[in-house]
Amino acid sequence: MTRPDKRHPDTLGFATQAVHAGNAVDAGSGAIRTPIVMANSYALPENPEELSWSGFDVPLYTRNTGANQRALQQKLALLEGGEDAVVLATGVAALHGVFFTFLRTGDHAVVSDVTYEASWRLFADILPARYGVEATFVDTSDPDVVRAAMRPNTKLVHTEVIANPTTRVCDIAAVAEIAHGGGALLSVDSTFTPPPLYRPLADGADLVVHSLTKVINGHGDAMGGVVVGAREHIDAIRAEAMVDVGGVVSPFNAWLISRGAITLPLRLRQHVTSAQRVAEFLADHPAVAYVTYPGLPDHPQHALATRQLGGRGHGWMMAFALDGDAALQNRFVADLRVVTSAVSLGHDESLIVHVGTTGARAARWPEEFRRYGHLRFSVGLEDPDDLIADLAAALDTIRA
Ligand SMILES: *Cc1c(COP(=O)(O)O)cnc(C)c1O
Repeated sequence: MTRPDKRHPDTLGFATQAVHAGNAVDAGSGAIRTPIVMANSYALPENPEELSWSGFDVPLYTRNTGANQRALQQKLALLEGGEDAVVLATGVAALHGVFFTFLRTGDHAVVSDVTYEASWRLFADILPARYGVEATFVDTSDPDVVRAAMRPNTKLVHTEVIANPTTRVCDIAAVAEIAHGGGALLSVDSTFTPPPLYRPLADGADLVVHSLTKVINGHGDAMGGVVVGAREHIDAIRAEAMVDVGGVVSPFNAWLISRGAITLPLRLRQHVTSAQRVAEFLADHPAVAYVTYPGLPDHPQHALATRQLGGRGHGWMMAFALDGDAALQNRFVADLRVVTSAVSLGHDESLIVHVGTTGARAARWPEEFRRYGHLRFSVGLEDPDDLIADLAAALDTIRA
């Protein structure tokens, strides 16, 4: 057996990598943690003419590269099992980086019809209307539907592993084979399934996107995004989306996210255990109209999710609704005393948001979502007994 050695991260287990990767003794101060470097500019060599002002290998200007971006990129590339990573200002900046770097006027994309709102809007409106990129929205949980949507000019297939907000699950290996068969790249938004829960690159995805604002940072106090993949692809995103478009992450946010990511494996274990208990509690409650969570046996892709995520749990995100109208859902949320009503997800605190039944995207949601609306629920790190007691009390008030 190779002796684990933090100088060679590939000898380390996942939790050890999460602690050590990207961290180094600081040459200037001797500090054993990478310091926060807020400088915009770095010392130039004697002959700066030799530098490329659009380059990103030599420290020059923080929009090209910086100490804290590099540290976070190293950690995330390793944890996701990719060759390289680029961190950007937000998850949406990372999605923009993928879509705008790999699609040209006249190209076509096959896109999941259930995604994060901004992905939908980019493909439904901005890319076709202003840039002449066509998109076909399909149910990516059905590989045959994806295959049928491929065209000779399809350059990108984009999906989420577990879709926000319906929790529909995509078979990444099957869709990767279809994308590659048609000469397209597969990009996967894996925000609901960070490593070690799942690593889409191992199943054939080309580009993995995360909103670092969510569970990878985990503390609800910084925004960021990342794309992980082959160096050639990541360098192309770096050159355009970062250096030329400017979606750079703040060094302080990169530092916060590096710190948060240290405890990712520990936190995920609690998130998935608590979510399973909470989902089972809700599913058994008579006031609840439906719960959708991939860990419940009646979820349409329960078996696929269990196999694809290797039995490591089914995430911490679920959607449910009470048997009643929007006013009832709002009264229920207002009565919660532990769970916080706010957008975002994957924070230490449990977050719930009531989403209605209107809007262009809702037409693609399952029938019960359109009838009742849904409460998107991110199960946090509180004692699961407190969460269940809080939900139970608010549900009893509604029934009374
Ligand atoms: C939040 C989220 C995003 C966007 O990330 P930001 O950091 O808010 O820009 C993208 N995809 C998914 C699945 C998300 O939940």
